[in-house]
Amino acid sequence: MRTELSTLGEFGLIDRIKLQQAEKQQKSTLKGIGDDCAVIEKSKTEVTLISTDILLEGIHFDLTYTPLLHLGYKAVAVNVSDVAAMNGIPQQITVSIAISNRFSVEAIDELYKGIRLACENYKVDLVGGDTTSSQRGLMISVTVIGTAKKSEVAYRSGAKVNDVICVSGDLGAAYAGLQILEREKEVYSANPEMQPELEGKDYVIKRLLKPEGRTDIVHELKDLGIVPTSMIDISDGLASEILHICNASGVGAYVYEDKLPITHDTEQTLFDFKLDPTTAAMNGGEDYELLFTVSMKDFEKLKNHEDITTIGYITEKAKGVIMISKKGNQYPIKAQGWDHLV
Ligand code: ADP
Ligand code: MG
Repeated sequence: MRTELSTLGEFGLIDRIKLQQAEKQQKSTLKGIGDDCAVIEKSKTEVTLISTDILLEGIHFDLTYTPLLHLGYKAVAVNVSDVAAMNGIPQQITVSIAISNRFSVEAIDELYKGIRLACENYKVDLVGGDTTSSQRGLMISVTVIGTAKKSEVAYRSGAKVNDVICVSGDLGAAYAGLQILEREKEVYSANPEMQPELEGKDYVIKRLLKPEGRTDIVHELKDLGIVPTSMIDISDGLASEILHICNASGVGAYVYEDKLPITHDTEQTLFDFKLDPTTAAMNGGEDYELLFTVSMKDFEKLKNHEDITTIGYITEKAKGVIMISKKGNQYPIKAQGWDHLV
């Protein structure tokens, strides 16, 4: 019998892989499949964090508008983001690539220049990887290794009723940037003489092409003496990520639409495309901001932080995962994140 992958979807498939695996063989494996990183015991007080991500041409990036320099940077940033999402500090990466003769030495130099810039920015070392050929497309896979104190690891599963829900930075901009670049690609393929119309769109385009992993927030939370009760990075859109936290923690949530951090630039761009900013923030993806929960007592310490926004609070599971609209209506939040398999 043949079962279509689309019946499972990406998360269903990952659950299935997890269930089919052997019982844990190593005591040092503190957390396996199911969070932003695996957590491995290093000493009594410290853990090693490991995460890996593939970026595939035609699925995750389009080289007609993605400079290789930016792609190299982004491949590192999105992995660093997964370590930040565990409240950890990244230390090393390995980088594996599959390339075809379509790419020149200079092109690969550009890719690795971006990787180097990211390594300098995030203070990580490139310590290995693998190189192989592909028939045509480019694939880049990065594995990141990080560290955290065992007592400070933030899992998806720790959110408690009445915790405050926080988001770093702003949302929906990468999705707005994608609309612009996809439009320009169409215009260009129809008429290569056309010059791209990108004026005033620097911010949203940069958010798509050069996202940052928010290790700065991890450091700031440490300085404030805060350990988030739960945390995840926003790669697939806020909706999908809040559901991950609520499912893993066995809780519900109220999220207020009017609290979602969306910049003016993002709103303007989305309005031009007749797209709804809330939908972009909830389902757009690729923002790589941090979504986390803190206890009420810790909330006092960060409520005036200019780069962290409070968007709601954790409720009992029975209340569901709910968005309160600007008009005060309640809607159940559903995940519509990117699902490459459907
Ligand atoms: P993220 O969006 O944070 O990168 P994913 O949704 O890709 O996380 O993965 C969720 C969890 O499933 C992670 O713990 C990841 O390591 C694990 N995972 C994903 N794909 C596989 C796979 N093919 N085999 C084993 N574990 C996987
Ligand atoms: Mg993640």
